Amino acid sequence: MTGLSILGATGSVGASTLDVVRRNADRFRVEALTANTSVELLAEQCLEFEPGLAAVAGEDEADALRARLQPHGLRTEVVCGIEGISRAAGLEEADTVVAAIVGAAGLLPTLAAARAGKRLLLANKETAVMAGDLLMGAVRQADGALIPIDSEHNAVFQCLPDGDAGPGSGISHVLLTASGGPFLDVPLEALPAVTPEQACNHPNWDMGRKISVDSATMMNKGLEVIEACRLFGLQVDQVRVVIHPQSIVHSLVQYRDGSVLAQLGNPDMRTPIAHALGWPERLDAGVEPLDLCEVARLDFRPPDLDRFPCLRLAMEAAASGGAAPIYLNAANEVAVEAFLENRIPFDSIAALIGSVLAKCAVADPTGLEAILELDAQARVVAREYLREIAI
Ligand code: NDP
Repeated sequence: MTGLSILGATGSVGASTLDVVRRNADRFRVEALTANTSVELLAEQCLEFEPGLAAVAGEDEADALRARLQPHGLRTEVVCGIEGISRAAGLEEADTVVAAIVGAAGLLPTLAAARAGKRLLLANKETAVMAGDLLMGAVRQADGALIPIDSEHNAVFQCLPDGDAGPGSGISHVLLTASGGPFLDVPLEALPAVTPEQACNHPNWDMGRKISVDSATMMNKGLEVIEACRLFGLQVDQVRVVIHPQSIVHSLVQYRDGSVLAQLGNPDMRTPIAHALGWPERLDAGVEPLDLCEVARLDFRPPDLDRFPCLRLAMEAAASGGAAPIYLNAANEVAVEAFLENRIPFDSIAALIGSVLAKCAVADPTGLEAILELDAQARVVAREYLREIAI
């Protein structure tokens, strides 16, 4: 039995992970579950999986969760705050940690899991963007392992010899596929008026609201370019983006000899999650088998950077390196939140990020404190800009 800790259990990736666990109940024991404020859903998950530890954001949520669990005589200990969530990440009974908290809030718990030498199943791409080198260094130092569950990076991992893109691997570059999201072919003049509901209505994937907006702006792909560089030790010019509206080919690796390896499957996060949970074995994921005759055609085209300025900004930040990816990520989180609250129009997301990046500190952060400081600085700049433009 593998002991599991699931950070962000109440989210979209968390729910898909628990579905795979349910199908493979003889292989996994859930040791810890965490959430932010979704107490009722976390309570239901605790009643079903009976973890030893459950962590939530604040004392109020912890009290509510204890009250909800107490009549059932569950042995689950309830803790709270960043210390509680980080405790779930480093829990001795958990061999494997699924890092599925959204945004920069995932940074400290994800790092805690890496430092504890866990087998880390990474969905929280923002941590890789903000602190990729620190994260990979911690994994190496603690003799742990990192398996990506972001579907594109999981696809690349599957197409690399032993998941390694090092000098002996013979790779030329990787191609990250992108569906283009809900606004791929919407007339450009309609974009300023699109609503959060339209932006979250992804044609192929059912995901949390933040990543859905990131997919609509294609910032998601930009974050993934940086994530790929960090996880696989690639140079920015070794990572290319191609639009593939059907989301069947999840990414590809091009080798020096002209071979291109791809990983295909129906767009369902349970496939990469099951791959990472079972690796190197294969588990039942509950995913419909791919029927290529039914899919019939696979289209590919280059991304239009005028339509998707967030992708351009992310590529520029990736090339600049240093503090730029931290500023990019922080500004994007502030902008997406404001858009979801109807405080700025869709096209102001890129404008806000561009303005914050223009004020980016010239710094090459080496440690966690410097990273957190730059993240905080960027949020201050973003909020100032927001005050000027918000509706
Ligand atoms: P969701 O918004 O659906 O879920 C986020 C999870 O994080 C919830 O459990 C939420 O708790 C928790 N959370 C949010 N804020 C905090 C906080 N401040 N402190 C502690 N926990 C918090 O997100 P997704 O599942 O869609 O995405 C999770 C991560 O995985 C993201 O980084 C995303 O980019 C990545 N990813 C997602 C994919 C998908 O298909 N959804 C695909 C590939 C990558 P609560 O419910 O209480 O708010």
